[in-house]
Amino acid sequence: MTVRIDDTHRFAEMALAALRATGLCATPRNYELWYAHAEGKNPALSAHIQKAMDETGKVSQEKADALYDQLVQHDDISNDVINLVTRFHTEVTDLWDIVEKSGESASGHNEKLTSLSAQLRESTNNYPAVGTLLEGVLSVTKNMMSENANLENRLAASAEEVSNLQRDVEAIQAEAMRDALTGIANRATFDRSLDKHMTEAGEAKEPLALVLSDIDHFKKFNDTWGHQTGDQVLRFVADVMTANVKGKDLLARYGGEEFAIVLPGTTLKNAHMLADRIRTAVESRRLRKRRTDEDLGVVTMSMGVALLKEGETMEMLIERADNCLYAAKNSGRNRVIDEKEFSEMPQERQKGVA
Ligand code: GH3
Ligand code: MG
Ligand code: MG
Repeated sequence: MTVRIDDTHRFAEMALAALRATGLCATPRNYELWYAHAEGKNPALSAHIQKAMDETGKVSQEKADALYDQLVQHDDISNDVINLVTRFHTEVTDLWDIVEKSGESASGHNEKLTSLSAQLRESTNNYPAVGTLLEGVLSVTKNMMSENANLENRLAASAEEVSNLQRDVEAIQAEAMRDALTGIANRATFDRSLDKHMTEAGEAKEPLALVLSDIDHFKKFNDTWGHQTGDQVLRFVADVMTANVKGKDLLARYGGEEFAIVLPGTTLKNAHMLADRIRTAVESRRLRKRRTDEDLGVVTMSMGVALLKEGETMEMLIERADNCLYAAKNSGRNRVIDEKEFSEMPQERQKGVA
C-alpha cells in the first residue's frame, strides 16, 4: 500500500491535536498511539479512545499505556527473539521443576538463565514494545533467580553448618578418646580397642600380644623434681613409645604412669623385642629439667608381655600381663618379662619375694 505524504501530515496533525485535547504528553509512544487512532486502521484502539473521551473527557496515561500494550501491533518481532523467549520459558519451567521436586542444585540453570536474559535484553533493544513486555517477565524471573540463589546460599550454608558440626563432633570424639597430658589413647579407648582386637584375632586365628609397662620409682621422681617435671617425663615416655609402634598397634595410657600396647598379629617373641627396644630407648636418654636444664638422671621402665589365649577374657589377658610386669618389678625393675619366662620362674620370684 502506498502512503500519501499529505495523509501522513494530516494524521500527524490530528494525532497531536487529539493528544493535546486529552492532556497527555506528546511522548513518542503516545504519539504513535494517537497517530494510529487518527489513521483509523485500528478500530479497536479508536473505539477505546473514543469511549474514554466520551465518558471522562480524557485518557489517563495508565489507560494509554494499557492500550499501547494490548492493541498496537508490532509484527516485526524477529524469530530470534521469539526463539529466545521460548528457550527462556523452558529453562525457567525446568528450573522450577528441579528445585521444587528434587531440591537439586540450581546453580547451572541460574547461569543459563542469566545468560539467556542478557541475550534477550540485547535482542529486544530494537523492539521497545517487546522490551516492555519482556521487562515484566524478566523481573519475575529475576526474583525467582534471586530466590533460587537464596535457596542455594541457604543450602550451601546448611551444608557448611552440617560439616562444621560434624567436624566439631569428630574433634570432641577424638578428644574424648585421647589422654590430655600425652595425646595418646586413654584407658577407655584401650578397653574398647582391646576388646575389638581380641574378637578380630580370634576370628582370624592370629596372635595378639599385650604389653603392660610401668615407670620405675616414679613416686620418688615426682617427690624429688616436682609433679610438673613428672608430667614432662610422662610425655617423653609416651613419645618414645609412639615412635616405636605402627600400623594397627595401639598405644594407650593405661593409668597414672602405666602404659599399654596392644599388638595385633604379633608373636610373644616379637612383642618382647619391641618392649625391650622401648625400655632401652627410655633408659638411654638422660633427662634435663626444661626450664633450669638441671640433670634429672634417667628413668627406667618395667614391662610384662602376654599373648592372648583361646577363649580368654580381656581381664584374664590383662591379669597375666600384669603378673609378668609385677615379676619384672620384683626381679630388679628396668626389664621385660614375658609370660614364657614368667612360667619358667620359680614361684617365689613370680610372687615377688625376691
Ligand atoms: P614402682 O617402681 O614400683 O612402679 O614405683 P612407683 O613409685 O613408680 O609406683 P607408685 O604406684 O607407688 O607411684 C606411681 C606414681 O606415679 C604416683 C604418682 O605420683 C605418679 N603419677 C601418677 N600419675 C601421674 C601424673 O599424671 N603426673 C605425674 N607427674 N605423676 C603421676
Ligand atoms: Mg604404677
Ligand atoms: Mg611405677
